[in-house]
Amino acid sequence: MLEINYSGIPQENLNKNVRICEICSNEFAPSKYRPNQKICSNLACQTERQKRNILSWRARNPAYFRHIHANPHWRNKRSLRSRQWRLTHSAHIRQYREAHREYYRLYMREYMRQYRRRRRGGEVAVEGTS
Ligand SMILES: [Zn+2]
Repeated sequence: MLEINYSGIPQENLNKNVRICEICSNEFAPSKYRPNQKICSNLACQTERQKRNILSWRARNPAYFRHIHANPHWRNKRSLRSRQWRLTHSAHIRQYREAHREYYRLYMREYMRQYRRRRRGGEVAVEGTS
């Protein structure tokens, strides 16, 4: 009888109980609790797997956060909260910028470029008035 294998894992590997990790390409034995496991238990591979899961979820649910971002009440609350965080963690921010000076410089250059572009378009709200 023809055996149907839905997991996408080659039948010979399914029988041997040995897999090739889809991320690092190393051999591994799947957990007995997750017989269809496709990614090994290396921390780096698991981190990558979680990242891919999140990205694919966001791609499948593009409108999920839209109503939140469109809600002015939520936007005000968020901007107030992040302003408070910046005020109470100014030493941390200064330290981070010192440690990542080049990254911060590039980030600010891009941020200001976008800020000026939005401002020319008349969309930008002045800090504290929105
Ligand atoms: Zn792996």
